[in-house]
Amino acid sequence: MSGRPAGGRTHGHRAAEAAVRRWVRDQRPPHALVISGPAQVGKTTLALDLARGLLCTDGAEAARPCGSCAACRRVDHGNHPDLHLVTPEGAGGQIRLAAVQALVADLALKPMEGRWRVALIEQAHRLNPDAQNALLKTLEEPVGAAVIILAADDLSALLPTVVSRAARLRLGPVAQAALVRILAERDLSDPSRAAEIGRLAGGRPGAAVTLASQPETMIAIDRLARSLLDLAAVSRRRRLAAVPGLLSDAATVDEPSASGASRARSTPAERRRSVIRVLSTWREVARDLCVVACGGAAQVRHLALLEDLQALSPHVDYRALVAFLGRLDGHIAAIEGYANPELTLDVLVLSWPSTDGAARAAA
Ligand SMILES: [Zn+2]
Repeated sequence: MSGRPAGGRTHGHRAAEAAVRRWVRDQRPPHALVISGPAQVGKTTLALDLARGLLCTDGAEAARPCGSCAACRRVDHGNHPDLHLVTPEGAGGQIRLAAVQALVADLALKPMEGRWRVALIEQAHRLNPDAQNALLKTLEEPVGAAVIILAADDLSALLPTVVSRAARLRLGPVAQAALVRILAERDLSDPSRAAEIGRLAGGRPGAAVTLASQPETMIAIDRLARSLLDLAAVSRRRRLAAVPGLLSDAATVDEPSASGASRARSTPAERRRSVIRVLSTWREVARDLCVVACGGAAQVRHLALLEDLQALSPHVDYRALVAFLGRLDGHIAAIEGYANPELTLDVLVLSWPSTDGAARAAA
């Protein structure tokens, strides 16, 4: 087995990296590839490693992608004529039929420069059914020189007929050591925070890079998580009064550079996103409480909260906490669909298991 090509950017997904290296070395990639895994885990990075590897002009196949030839650099800049990127567009954030039809037409042409045409469909779980059906014909009758890569957070959003015609790589969370290496490679490693960033990122390199490069995001996440934990010990009235603060911190997490004024004019979609951010942070905090109660402090995601979690944990009703965790997932799905986000948040702040009585009794 040859060493790692200089231009490979993926870390921590060894089996998938080996598959990509083999396809590049043998110049025999699958005509269609589905890469699935959680958001920000490295699907696009891996897909671009394959694209760079196939389009690279370095003399030795085993050294591709070299990362420094003109072809590799053009892939990095997104302007290689044989690389076709498709991403969701418009208010609904979908990939529509027209975008796929344009892609299929491009792929039918001979490569402009190299041996391959590579298409990367990012967030392929947002392909609507018409668009998937349009893609199906190309997947059934592959064109010689085309490679279509679908990167999807949620495999179940793809038609079985699409998935069954493609090779598949599944990316799981990467190890902490790989996250630290990725941060160091980008000059983002601050040893004092590396462990905390690694935990919060949950094994997702993209999330680790975002957190490390935007300290204000980390601060807002910490504040949001702490506010949620603190709600357990306060009255119903103070819980409801805390909701605007939660939403404001959530908006800062998603868009750290926006001013307060521009946030006040937020759209319904942005408010929905903020509520989902609150709920997903809440899920982590509730999970951390459970983990601490089981003696698993080493597995806590919100390390900054560890002492507070340990102080609170003896006062929590765990049956209620587990039930609350179960409800959170349902509410996140409902908000992504039709439910009123603000109303859902009000309901949840009131149903967060209380430690008020227990804490007072212990005091
Ligand atoms: Zn190259």
